[in-house]
Amino acid sequence: MLIIFVSMELLDGKIVSQAVKEDLTLKIMELQKSGNRIPHLAAILIGENGASETYIASKIKNCAEVGIKSSIVRFEENSSESTVIEAITKMNNDDDIDGILVQFPLPQQIDEQKIINLINPAKDVDGFHPINTGKLIQGIPTFIPATPYGIMLMLEHYNINTSGKHAVVIGRSNIVGRPMSILLSQNSPYGNCTVTVCHSRTINLKEICLQADIIVAALGQPGFLTGDMIKENAIVIDVGINKVKDEQKKSGFSIRGDVAFDEAAAKCSYITPVPGGVGLMTIAALLKNTYNAYLQRKQF
Ligand code: NAD
Repeated sequence: MLIIFVSMELLDGKIVSQAVKEDLTLKIMELQKSGNRIPHLAAILIGENGASETYIASKIKNCAEVGIKSSIVRFEENSSESTVIEAITKMNNDDDIDGILVQFPLPQQIDEQKIINLINPAKDVDGFHPINTGKLIQGIPTFIPATPYGIMLMLEHYNINTSGKHAVVIGRSNIVGRPMSILLSQNSPYGNCTVTVCHSRTINLKEICLQADIIVAALGQPGFLTGDMIKENAIVIDVGINKVKDEQKKSGFSIRGDVAFDEAAAKCSYITPVPGGVGLMTIAALLKNTYNAYLQRKQF
């Protein structure tokens, strides 16, 4: 019997995000030493969504770690759209604020697209504004949505050769799948892939995945990508963050990715864990976007 051992390497979000954060910390210390104002990220949180609270708390904690100033404006669940519009308009005009982040999802009375369109594109550190999306598509430097940007930083850190590879991106959302597919197909050092974008209407997903050298799973279904969907030596990036019941845990749940990790790890050459992978990179990328927004606005 022929046994093939694949040597798998973990794409470790802890290591890479730490490296990004150390670099930012030094840069911000330099700013402080020379008497400059420091970058400021302002967040808006509406309602009482537990997951949103956790995400915001983590972003604020990470800002503090690298020396970025942060602030939160909180609104009640039933706040009107006009109240939120007023707050964003104020932030747009506040010279002390470099990055504006509105934590999604929003309550139903508030139109998400209207809010995205309102944020000053120069402060749009989430990279969701259509102007920034347009720039991304045209390969013009801009704010890249934090999750795909974090994945690109990871590929760069591990110096993964993506050129000419077939990348399959599962998911076509504006915040992950779509921008990811654009970045991987771009003529850039960690791009140059041939990209297939799959989604909920894709037929023969398994066959398509089996042709992939790189798979980015961003669909939001725990353990969806199983070992039999992965080619030997493929690179697997797991974006999913899914809360699943877990009686072993005190909280009653655990966090699982979109990939069946053990099965996938036995076949692939590189894989990101969940937790400890893309999630940490997303926050690191947001911090980087905030610093870049500051640099572009430095005259203030
Ligand atoms: P979304 O719900 O907006 O999009 C999901 C996409 O998956 C859709 O395009 C849909 O067509 C596709 N899809 C759904 N079921 C499918 C199926 N059976 N086969 C093929 N495609 C299918 O989700 P999102 O905001 O893009 O997030 C996706 C996942 O990534 C979620 O688990 C989310 O929690 C997670 N996420 C993680 C981070 C991070 O920092 N790690 C950031 C954002 C989102």
